Amino acid sequence: MTITLMKLPYAEDALSPTLSKEQVSLHYHKHHKAYVENLNKIIKDTEFAKMGVEQIMMKSGSGPIFNNSAQIYNHDFLWHSLTPKSESKFDEESELGKAIIEQYGSFDKFKKEAEEKAKKFFGSGWLFLSKKDGKLALATFRDAHNPVSKKEGTPLFTIDLWEHMWYVSYPADRKEFMKDIWDIINWEFANDNYVE
Ligand code: MN
Repeated sequence: MTITLMKLPYAEDALSPTLSKEQVSLHYHKHHKAYVENLNKIIKDTEFAKMGVEQIMMKSGSGPIFNNSAQIYNHDFLWHSLTPKSESKFDEESELGKAIIEQYGSFDKFKKEAEEKAKKFFGSGWLFLSKKDGKLALATFRDAHNPVSKKEGTPLFTIDLWEHMWYVSYPADRKEFMKDIWDIINWEFANDNYVE
C-alpha cells in the first residue's frame, strides 16, 4: 500500500500565534511530507510495501525504513496532539486531568516537569506523555523513537522537540516555545487515549 500524508485536522494558520502559519506549513509540507515520500521510495518492492506505518516501524528495527516510518507515526500523532488555542482546555475533572493532579500534585507542577525534561534533552527528539502500568510517564525519546517503538506504554500526547517544530516562531528559544505550547495541547485527544 502507498503510505499517505495525513490531512491536517485544522487550517495551517489555526495554531497561531503559538505556531505561525509559516512554521506549521514548513513542518507539514517539507518535513512530514518528505518522510512520507522517502518511505514510499525505500519500501518499494520490499516486504514492507504491504504494511501500514506502525507495522513497518515495529518490524524494521533501525535504519532509514525505521527512521522514516517512525517519524510519520510521530508526526501523525503530533498533529492530533495539537489544537487551536480556543479549543485547548485542560479539564481537571476528566479522567486524565484527575490522574495528572493526583500524580504530579498540580497542573503547574506537571507542566514544569515536562518543561524540565525538554530543557535537559540534548539534540533532536520527542517528548511524550504516556500511560504505563497504570501510571503517567513524561519521557523524551531520541530522533524518531517513541513509547510504541520502545515498548514503553500507550502514548497520550506528544511535543516535537526537533528544531523544525519551533525555530521559525521561536528563533533559538526552545524554552519559550515549551512555555507556550500548553496553549495548544489537545487535552480531549489525550484524555481519549488515556481512557481507551
Ligand atoms: Mn517534526
